[in-house]
Amino acid sequence: MIQLSHITKSFRSGRGQVKALSDISLSVDIGRFAAIEGVSGSGKSTLLYCIGGLEKPDRGEVRCFGTIIHRLTPSKLSLFQRRHLGFIFQRGNLLSYLTVAENIGMPLTLNGIVGKVRDKRIEALLSDIDLKSATNALPHELSGGETQRVSVARAIAHRPRLLLADEPTANLDTSTGRRVVQLMRDLAKDHGCTIIMATHDKEITDTAEPVIGLKDGQLIREEK
Ligand code: ADP
Ligand code: MG
Repeated sequence: MIQLSHITKSFRSGRGQVKALSDISLSVDIGRFAAIEGVSGSGKSTLLYCIGGLEKPDRGEVRCFGTIIHRLTPSKLSLFQRRHLGFIFQRGNLLSYLTVAENIGMPLTLNGIVGKVRDKRIEALLSDIDLKSATNALPHELSGGETQRVSVARAIAHRPRLLLADEPTANLDTSTGRRVVQLMRDLAKDHGCTIIMATHDKEITDTAEPVIGLKDGQLIREEK
């Protein structure tokens, strides 16, 4: 289970102190597909980053599968992220100088998965995302939808327990976005992976559970 209790996070910026998250408590059960919903600036990314240990909350704690991640030392946190988490961002964030297959293989290498096991897993993922033909392509040769399919494969390659996605369909047309989300759900289901996704897309939030609503950094609803 992923459990957040009393998460509070402020930023100091040119606009003064901005309270990005105010006293957020919630939980997401293992295997769920959860959505974080809210307008731009409501705190969705900050919440995802706090859950994944990319931001440290000012107060409160995040318990991921029993581990209070903000109490880990930086090196233990890196190990935890590398092993158990997968991230998908709005623009894919593939490494531009690596091929599609090398991008997908990156988290495998980092987790010591090498040789034939690694090759087989990359091949299976390329087939899952229907991009075998792009094995040796570079990211700039891909369309937006293809980039996100590769991002999904890369995020899930090492079979993480939690997949965090920050508006992964924001730059895609509706049908391409639908396909990317379906792919994410299918792969997550196959591997018993929990998903938490920030999104504006009503079609996605309609099928997500729980839906975590944010407004000005406050939790406005958590449907179970
Ligand atoms: P969303 O993802 O819903 O658009 P964010 O979590 O990015 O919202 O931002 C929530 C609030 O926190 C916004 O007011 C934003 O300007 C502010 N914020 C986020 N990150 C930073 C940062 N690194 N420095 C200063 N302010 C930030
Ligand atoms: Mg955001």
